[in-house]
Amino acid sequence: MSVVTEQSDLWALDWRNRAAAMGMPWYAPQQPSAIEAPYPVAFNDDVAALLDIDAERARREGYAEVLSGNRLPPGAEPVAHRYGGHQFGIWAGQLGDGRAITLGDMVNARGQVYDIQLKGAGKTPYSRFADGRAVLRSTIREYLGSEALAGLGIPTTRALAIVGSDAPVYRETVETSAILTRVAPSLVRFGSFEMLFYDRRFDDLAPLADAVIQHHHPELAAIENDYERYRAWVVRVIELTASLIADWQAVGFCHGVLNTDNMSVLGLTLDYGPFGFMDSFDPDWICNHTDEAGRYTYNRQPAIGLWNLGRFVQAILPLLAEEPDAAVEIGQNLLEDYRSAYDRAYQARMQAKLGLVEAAEGDAELVASLLKLMARDGADFTRSFRALGEVSAAPSASAAPFIDEFVDREGAEAWLADWRARLGEAEADDAARRVRMHLVNPKYILRNYLAQHAIERAENGDYSEIERLHAILRRPFDEQPEHADYARLPPDWARGLVLSCSS
Ligand code: AMP
Ligand code: MG
Repeated sequence: MSVVTEQSDLWALDWRNRAAAMGMPWYAPQQPSAIEAPYPVAFNDDVAALLDIDAERARREGYAEVLSGNRLPPGAEPVAHRYGGHQFGIWAGQLGDGRAITLGDMVNARGQVYDIQLKGAGKTPYSRFADGRAVLRSTIREYLGSEALAGLGIPTTRALAIVGSDAPVYRETVETSAILTRVAPSLVRFGSFEMLFYDRRFDDLAPLADAVIQHHHPELAAIENDYERYRAWVVRVIELTASLIADWQAVGFCHGVLNTDNMSVLGLTLDYGPFGFMDSFDPDWICNHTDEAGRYTYNRQPAIGLWNLGRFVQAILPLLAEEPDAAVEIGQNLLEDYRSAYDRAYQARMQAKLGLVEAAEGDAELVASLLKLMARDGADFTRSFRALGEVSAAPSASAAPFIDEFVDREGAEAWLADWRARLGEAEADDAARRVRMHLVNPKYILRNYLAQHAIERAENGDYSEIERLHAILRRPFDEQPEHADYARLPPDWARGLVLSCSS
């Protein structure tokens, strides 16, 4: 089956195809492989709006042919991106888009640029021994996971649609295929630069860095001195990474595969494999079954961010100074700011989660003592913070829903007394604090069992649960009392649900 050009003007976006114009060694031209009888599974009106796609028309006219890769949008020049990466701490060599094909990048009417990519659209030069396909369950997890993070206001790649096909894919069992349309301002990774460095293609680092700077940090593009511009860019990448990881920690999100090929240079959450939101709080939680050594536990994510940035900075050393020794020293100095950038970002988020308007001495300890209590009791991360928003500052007021999350009720009471003592004039108004806290402590997260439920239904041909969950998760801070069931503790069978790598 060959791929043809779509006739409907619905898909005639303002394609720029910058990656195709750059060509090798960064991007290889690559057409999707047509797949048998694609059908619609899910479509996201929010992301359609970002792309100036008329969602209603797309649903009416059908989007499966185009978003499976069977028909190419007029004007799109698809590519596969070549990158490498450190996987679990070891340089893994060339990886690249093994099953993701970027149709092109387009610019919307607001001047925003987006790459539109089909994940699971067939083999590429980087597929190695794998089939270039994705299975339905993994696309549902990515669709819901990325939209849940977007709903929480955390930087992430987005998902426009899922298209299914009964074409079989062979994993541990035979499954059906699906294609996810992933959307992001850029899909350049730390590993994109590492690949060039390990190939000793030092002259190719600057054009890729310049493309990122020009398209995504135009204010830095004005810095004329090359070394200064790249250094300012590294500072930005460090800040964006620190801020992203602080965002994850603050909602109990665990990425699961923080290899450098999964690290976005824009600080976006990228690559949704065995990720998970924590139910009961366990700082040493391993959400990825394959991660036996626990390299990527929740508690290690901030340190892994620095390690990964170290690999990134090493790869772009030739951009930092003429002399190698000077470049190393500059790189190390820049990296030294990560810790404080992370701590600042993390403390600010946790302070807000406790309803504190201004920082004060002892706040870090107050946060740490609550987390310690939660870890010891396995209290539910999301529910505990959400319940805290309901607690009155008055010492005698009942705090039952919060206390009920803990086994050690006296310990929780004692912590509450410290917290109440800390609340000052700025935080005394219960109603105002409640509103503020509920804007940062979500009621709804994508619990693994909820995703699992949507997947099981979908595998039986019923896609309605994907839509329902998505609708709830796109406004996770709203009470939505009609959906209160989705904020309940997970059932016993779902405790300790773990997932493994890419599928
Ligand atoms: P991930 O664990 O999803 O980050 O994938 C690691 C690498 O394996 C990336 O280069 C992927 O493109 C590639 N890969 C994963 N699954 C497949 C597949 N089914 N076919 C081809 N390449 C794949
Ligand atoms: Mg990946």
